[in-house]
Amino acid sequence: MFDLWTEAVRSIEPMVKPAHRDLWLRPITCVSIDEGRIQLRAPNRYHKEWFEDNFLPSILRDLEARAQRSFVVDFEVAQDDEVGPATVATPLPERIGAPLAPVSRPAPAPDLISRYTFDTFVVGPTNQFAHAAARMVADAPASRWNPLFIYGGVGLGKTHLLQAVGHELHRQHPDWVVTAVTGEKFVTDFISVMMSQKRGGISSMEQFRTRYREMPDVLLVDDVQFLSNKDSSQDEFFHTFEALYKAHKQIVLTSDKLPAELPGVEDRLRSRFTWGLIAEVETPDLETRIAIVKHKAEQEKLHLPDEVATYIAAHIRSNVRELEGALLRLAARASFQNQPVTMELARDALQKLISLAPTGLTVESIQREVAAYFDVKLHDMKGPKRHRSVAHPRMVAMYLCRKLTSMSFPEIGSRFGGKDHSTVISAVRKIERLCTEDAALRSVVNTIETHLRQP
Ligand code: ADP
Ligand code: MG
Repeated sequence: MFDLWTEAVRSIEPMVKPAHRDLWLRPITCVSIDEGRIQLRAPNRYHKEWFEDNFLPSILRDLEARAQRSFVVDFEVAQDDEVGPATVATPLPERIGAPLAPVSRPAPAPDLISRYTFDTFVVGPTNQFAHAAARMVADAPASRWNPLFIYGGVGLGKTHLLQAVGHELHRQHPDWVVTAVTGEKFVTDFISVMMSQKRGGISSMEQFRTRYREMPDVLLVDDVQFLSNKDSSQDEFFHTFEALYKAHKQIVLTSDKLPAELPGVEDRLRSRFTWGLIAEVETPDLETRIAIVKHKAEQEKLHLPDEVATYIAAHIRSNVRELEGALLRLAARASFQNQPVTMELARDALQKLISLAPTGLTVESIQREVAAYFDVKLHDMKGPKRHRSVAHPRMVAMYLCRKLTSMSFPEIGSRFGGKDHSTVISAVRKIERLCTEDAALRSVVNTIETHLRQP
């Protein structure tokens, strides 16, 4: 079977410059091929990116033609900086004459992604509160803020913050058991335990409960929305929550929605989710996106001119994960061409990504959507009328323009019929503040935003 891979690689070699063969093709190894799955290994992430973009499609085409079937490719990265080693605590040696005082044993290092720490998290206005809440919980676990519930859209740093809490607690309390699980894993594990119980295996249920209800000093559950509509798992999770909560153990949860908006979650669980502290992460603004790109470049030891950082951040707006992807692609290109990162290189490398990025919303499209929602005339949005029926929608539109485009306050003002930037600033602040106080307005703004984001 391996021959299949070797031959497919050989088939594209004539098209590849010899230097590139050694540099880019040889280091990729095929670990296994079976049943339509190919497992490959790359020396690092740049290499994987580059290989996937440039060589994999042709190799796969050749291979699939030979084998007469399609394949799914899994990649593993040798220098994987992602998942820290799951070290197992070694029991302390029992020496004769050792002091009899109780010795706290180091607990196994939690299974966390090593780079998701507080140090690598860039704080800006849209995640400041969630960051502060996470820090607070890490410094004073299970005091007042239990559970901490972090919510927000994809790729905005929820998992990162959740894991940062785990790292910090492990650092401060090495003898604590920090258990991290995704909602999905909790559900699938529980279901498989139930199935095995039906076949007469009792012990696995005990193990499951020991693992989640008794052992943890801290339980981190990522993406709890996965529990939606999973009745029996929810029930199990409820009892897990109760047991830990009563034992004063810290619980941290993340979700893509607010507790109240989680569909198919029983009320008793929903209400428990709101007992502690709820913190939202939102799409970062331009300044924060620039800071994230720069920070990331520094971590990757990539020299990134300011204008390139701004270029990337201005064009990739939807979330941080895509921002990182863009930077990685650029880094791969620069290292491949053995060139410094320039604007020209950036434009070229990111062209494809940028055209795929969500079509930048315009002030006009936001004004139109808001006007339609409140049933006011579009030209009144831009006009001078101060009556509340017009002024209120106008403020909402200004707020959304600030949130969803990368325009500055003066630019937004000019598109609202030449309003002063201070008018825009106070409108944005006002809507921000009202949104925190007034659930109805918050929901209106969310609805309009969701509409706008739909392709
Ligand atoms: P979510 O769980 O909300 O979908 P993640 O936590 O997985 O998002 O974040 C996606 C990627 O973006 C991760 O690589 C994460 O490290 C990075 N990231 C998100 N927010 C920040 C931030 N504020 N500073 C630095 N990196 C961030
Ligand atoms: Mg996540």
